Amino acid sequence: MQNNINSSIGCTVDECKYHAKTVQKCSLDEIQVVKHTTNATSKEATDCGSFEREH
Ligand code: SF4
Repeated sequence: MQNNINSSIGCTVDECKYHAKTVQKCSLDEIQVVKHTTNATSKEATDCGSFEREH
């Protein structure tokens, strides 16, 4: 469980080691949002680049 809760970064990916767990928030001070295509044209083309597996 992460002690830090960044209320400015909402996140539902509770499989991530940085997820706050008790609430749907990230525990990092900042995240990097990335795109998967040269020109992002949809929500699905973007993601959290700071995600890391829990274990
Ligand atoms: S690093 Fe990204 S995926 Fe992981 S909890 Fe934070 S916002 Fe969510």
